[in-house]
Amino acid sequence: MSNSTKASPVLKGGCLCGAVRYELMATPAMAGFCYCESCRKLSGSGHAFHAMVPEDTLKITGDSRGFDWKADSGNTVTTSFCPTCGSPLFGKSSGMPGMVTVRAASLDDPSAVSPQMAVYTKRLLNWDHLDPTLPAFPEMPPMPSER
Ligand SMILES: [Zn+2]
Ligand SMILES: [Zn+2]
Repeated sequence: MSNSTKASPVLKGGCLCGAVRYELMATPAMAGFCYCESCRKLSGSGHAFHAMVPEDTLKITGDSRGFDWKADSGNTVTTSFCPTCGSPLFGKSSGMPGMVTVRAASLDDPSAVSPQMAVYTKRLLNWDHLDPTLPAFPEMPPMPSER
């Protein structure tokens, strides 16, 4: 990517206390809800809203802390959060090199991103809601084949 022009961020966001701020220099490639047990634990809610962006389009200021865990797929996922207020912010998977997920609800304008799918819907809780208009996958959708 060229640095000859000063690009302005498409979206901005940050944690609750403001110690960690970020800017997205591109519109998320994909966004969706995940109902898996890990996202439940990490969000303290029925599901998490992830927006996926190329890593080089995410600019972070402030220090976040990472926690590594194993996903069902066998991939190692690193979830990063603000060490001061605990807000979960970013995720990286060993299965998706070069991509990072941003917790879309941490955006300053979360309504700027729309979910395109729901995954791990087999874990849907009886008190949570599943949007019937979204493509839903019981687990992870099949990955696009390598090009
Ligand atoms: Zn914070
Ligand atoms: Zn999940």
